[in-house]
Amino acid sequence: MPDGSHAQGPHAVVIGAGFGGLAAAIRLSARGWRVTVVEKLDGPGGRAYTYKQDGFTFDAGPTIITAPYLLEELFELCGTQLSSHLDLRAIEPFYVIRFDDGTEFRAFSDIAKVREEVRRIAPEDVDGFDRFIKASEAIYKVAFVEMVDMPFHKFSTLLKSAPDLIRLQGYRSVFGKVGDYFGSEKLRIAFSFHPLLIGGNPLTTTAYYCLVAHLERTHGVHYAMGGTGALVRALVGLAEGKGARFRYGAAVEQITTEGGRATGVRLAGGETIPAHAVVSNADVGWTYSKLLSETPRRRWTDAKLRRASYSMGLFVWYFGTNRQFPDVYHHTMVLGPRYEELLKDIFSRKELAEDFSLYLHRPTASDPSLAPPGCDAFYVLAPVPNLLAGTDWEAKAEPYRAAIARRLEETVMPGLSRHIVTQRVLTPLDFRDRLLSLNGAAFSLEPQLFQSAWFRPHNLSEEVRGLYLVGAGTHPGAGVPGVISSARILDHILPEPAAIARG
Ligand SMILES: Cc1cc2nc3c(=O)[nH]c(=O)nc-3n(C[C@H](O)[C@H](O)[C@H](O)COP(=O)(O)OP(=O)(O)OC[C@H]3O[C@@H](n4cnc5c(N)ncnc54)[C@H](O)[C@@H]3O)c2cc1C
Repeated sequence: MPDGSHAQGPHAVVIGAGFGGLAAAIRLSARGWRVTVVEKLDGPGGRAYTYKQDGFTFDAGPTIITAPYLLEELFELCGTQLSSHLDLRAIEPFYVIRFDDGTEFRAFSDIAKVREEVRRIAPEDVDGFDRFIKASEAIYKVAFVEMVDMPFHKFSTLLKSAPDLIRLQGYRSVFGKVGDYFGSEKLRIAFSFHPLLIGGNPLTTTAYYCLVAHLERTHGVHYAMGGTGALVRALVGLAEGKGARFRYGAAVEQITTEGGRATGVRLAGGETIPAHAVVSNADVGWTYSKLLSETPRRRWTDAKLRRASYSMGLFVWYFGTNRQFPDVYHHTMVLGPRYEELLKDIFSRKELAEDFSLYLHRPTASDPSLAPPGCDAFYVLAPVPNLLAGTDWEAKAEPYRAAIARRLEETVMPGLSRHIVTQRVLTPLDFRDRLLSLNGAAFSLEPQLFQSAWFRPHNLSEEVRGLYLVGAGTHPGAGVPGVISSARILDHILPEPAAIARG
């Protein structure tokens, strides 16, 4: 039952119903704002949209849920518990990495088990592993616990964090730092690939992302029964319960401003919605270059946005099979023969390579409800260059998909092609045209040091008063924990509705 108690309160418009927009809508409505969420698509979730076809349910994007306490907090803000709405289950092993020679590395919550995995692959690296885990914890305490929901719109905040940056070697890359602890090429990959999950290149992403090893072990890796879509629906329900209104099929064309202050939004079709505050969960590059195209900008000019580095693109193939593949784990990384050179192809040379490293998702390993009885639902994704590479995806999508199918057949899914009964693909073109992401980037701005914290577009817009940014392209960055945390920052920077009402 919507509580509706603040039906006349100051009005906030949230552009976009991705995880960032949903978390923002929940926080604002819980604080007494009257909230309208305007979403271009016909349903919520954004990257976490749900496709249903031929009896299969496919989560479009995020599947690995870490730091669940950030989600639990949203439910608590609304006076309820996550467990009353959703069955969030810990997954073990977290994921399995299959190297090109068929060796497997399994990641577990139990550190002793991971140490055994390290010993099996490279006994001489066990010491390094123990030291790496300590380093990961030290980084986690600063970069995640202290900095993740710290507003970074003041340069002084950046200066205050500089000693930590030097002490923890945040200026180095994840791959470089991991190399200090592991001699084995396989283990260097196993402990450095994580930035790829948020669009970063392990060869250049700040070593701060070494915190993931500790984050995973401290809070676990989880899966929402019913799929990530069930989590999205629960968050929509929370916001609606606090009186927020959702309008789907409502694309914002312009953020309206007057005297340097956001006054609302104008939708495609001309309707305007006035607001005291506008929160944009739309892609940050799109927000500044397209939604504020009529407003002069000092920092995030079109030229600066052109010079920025964008995350990689993704090719995603969703498919359902008429039999099960019980040997395939819930989360498997199926690696190819190259690591560093493949990363250079994707991020610096911007070439679509012939080989690939894949992430294979089989949610039906944990939750058979996503497919008809006796069947399996999958998606497989390959990191690819973003659209700046000029790849002709109209022509390349099908041969690329077929090459991935062959690779899966010769590795972990023999006979796959004979059993596919439904499928769809997503290419960087969909990220640009459906999700309005500049350059078809799957994770917005790349998480490089000079595009992080103060250097990233601020949560409190530096261009227009009354405009706030949440989501992957703003601080702290992409990934479900990151975008939920970006909305948490609103509590520090967005005024109480009573202050607006007083004028
Ligand atoms: C395939 C894939 C797998 C991933 N796997 C994981 C994972 O396992 N774990 C993890 O933590 N992260 C994962 N991620 C990253 C994570 O999904 C994203 O970083 C996060 O969901 C982004 O949320 P967001 O709120 O920033 O943006 P989005 O989800 O993109 O939401 C933005 C919303 O704004 C809407 N919008 C845009 N422009 C307008 C406009 N002009 N008017 C109205 N609406 C507009 C869009 O339609 C969209 O719904 C994955 C991402 C992808 C693509």
